[in-house]
Amino acid sequence: MWYSAVLAVIIILFGLVVYGLTAFTLLSQVDNSLSQTAKDIINTSQMRRQLDVLFLLIPQQEVNRFSASRVYVQVWRANGTWVANSENLGDYKASLDPAGLTRTHGSSGDVVIDNARLRVVTEPIVTTNGQLLGYVQAASSLDQVDLAKNALLLVLVTGGLAAVLLAAMVGWLSANRALRPLDTITQTALQITRADDLSRRIPLAGVPQDEVGRLAQAFNDTLERLERLFNAQRRFLADVSHELRTPLTTIRGNVDLLRRMGGADATSLDAIQSEAERMSRLVGDLLLLAQSDAGTLPLARNPVELDTLLLEVFREAQVLAGGVVLQIGEIDQAVVNGDRDRLKQLLLNLVSNAIKFTPEGGRVTLGLARTAGNWARLVVTDTGVGIPPAELPFIFERFYRIDKARTRAAGGAGLGLAIAQRIAQVHGGRIEASSAGAGGSTFCVWLPLAPERVVIEAVKLTDTRPNPALPARVVKRRG
Ligand code: ADP
Repeated sequence: MWYSAVLAVIIILFGLVVYGLTAFTLLSQVDNSLSQTAKDIINTSQMRRQLDVLFLLIPQQEVNRFSASRVYVQVWRANGTWVANSENLGDYKASLDPAGLTRTHGSSGDVVIDNARLRVVTEPIVTTNGQLLGYVQAASSLDQVDLAKNALLLVLVTGGLAAVLLAAMVGWLSANRALRPLDTITQTALQITRADDLSRRIPLAGVPQDEVGRLAQAFNDTLERLERLFNAQRRFLADVSHELRTPLTTIRGNVDLLRRMGGADATSLDAIQSEAERMSRLVGDLLLLAQSDAGTLPLARNPVELDTLLLEVFREAQVLAGGVVLQIGEIDQAVVNGDRDRLKQLLLNLVSNAIKFTPEGGRVTLGLARTAGNWARLVVTDTGVGIPPAELPFIFERFYRIDKARTRAAGGAGLGLAIAQRIAQVHGGRIEASSAGAGGSTFCVWLPLAPERVVIEAVKLTDTRPNPALPARVVKRRG
């Protein structure tokens, strides 16, 4: 509608300009031609002076000369008395344009005589010394001009109307066609809401790849992602319930046994204790993940010396190592800003995994290096069972375990790597895993180094007066 309205305004303005210019040009042509006729007649006249009276002689045939081309001519004296008519005027003795006879310069005007519209040009007859002797009036019918103007008006009005109607129709049709897929999108969205079914998609066949097509594609992509997230959430809930049920079953079984035996049995109590500990570890891990998801994980931001932390983890992990050789590889000094306890948890998760998945006699190596771009790279390498390449993309997912039976027996719920990755992420870093198949696995943790602080200390002198000539000592301190 807006488009058609604007088009209509433009066409009306354009039509007015074209019509006005054409009418003006046609009328100017008539005026010029009539004025030229009148001047031609005046130029053929002769003036005679007799006894102080000036005579003007205009041959009648001159006045008639233009009758054939339907030009009417009248000659008048300056005092307004009639002199002559062209023969096509017959004995019409009134002035064609009385107003023209009152002026001393050339003029033109429209008059209506016997229902015919005439254009009349009046040219004064003036002697060389400026004396007004009379007028010649030349007139012609405006029929042709009016005919041309009316034809133009008809073309402009019908053409303009047709153009506006056509534009409105084409606009309506194309807007309808373009918006139809939007209707489909709305219907699909409503169906999804009503049926609670995220697997539905907007049919893309036949939808052109324009703005609406791209919107439909983006909508489908969003649905795809939402569906994946909802499924992950469902799976997560099922996994959580399952993981919590297993230790609870063991605890209940052992409590029953104790009741039936009527006394405490060390094995049952140990089982209850270890399952309760497993459960609280699990709940603790879940809480940490939930807090980090919600962005409410309390996180200290202190300088942490990673080399010292690595040695501490190394010492503590020795207890778990059993028959696995735990060793330190290359180790650089590196300080990061962060939470020491969380970073230790990250390292312990990686190291305990490495020990868990390395058979006796295998090796687990810890390393720390500073790399270009101000990164600290912690590396945990093992010579264990390795990770199949197809599993690599999933091992950081929650509750993901490659060999479920084996890892549950080893005490893992599949949350260790998910937690390690979240801890690295909240410190602005990341974890990369790689594996040479059965040759073992390598986990690299990248953490941004803390900016080095430069401390300027004045040199202490026995003389306490400041000496500007002495340079300050610049001490570079880590952290
Ligand atoms: P879990 O608590 O079961 O160890 P994780 O999230 O720490 O869970 O690890 C997920 C899975 O990734 C493990 O079940 C295991 O299959 C695999 N994995 C992790 N680290 C290693 C490793 N160093 N060597 C081989 N497989 C590993």
